[in-house]
Amino acid sequence: MHSDLESEVRRLESDLYMARRTILEMTPEPLRKELENYIGCKTFDEAYRWRVAAVERILELVQPQPAREMGDHSGGADRALCPLCGGGSQSPYGGRGFAYPEGLKRHLEGSYNSHQCAVMEAVSGLCRSGVRMELERQERAQAAVRVASPRVRTPRSKKKRSA
Ligand SMILES: [Zn+2]
Repeated sequence: MHSDLESEVRRLESDLYMARRTILEMTPEPLRKELENYIGCKTFDEAYRWRVAAVERILELVQPQPAREMGDHSGGADRALCPLCGGGSQSPYGGRGFAYPEGLKRHLEGSYNSHQCAVMEAVSGLCRSGVRMELERQERAQAAVRVASPRVRTPRSKKKRSA
């Protein structure tokens, strides 16, 4: 029963991974390249820095349009559709897309209570589970070293033990 549940969880994890990868692969270049940089992340700190840099680069690659051309006649900021999901603000006011850059940035980050971009959310999920797997791998490797050589210690830890 227990192992059935474990293999079911593993199957679902692998399905989720495949679905997220498919979303990433449907993203056009050069945006995909920015997103794929998540692959080198080994810590949550690196994951955070990857996301900040990716959002910044995506904002640079977007070409915002004047508000009027996007259906906003209130004289507001330039606007842009999300280049990842094609989405725009759900606000009944204003035009298509997001106010650029701040509105689009919030959408990509999912900050300030905005609904996060589904593509960005999927790739962030890939990044987080990659980091978790890497940390688990390191933990297992350290545990294996402890089991394989319980008496081998660096001089410093030997000193500590005899103290
Ligand atoms: Zn989006």
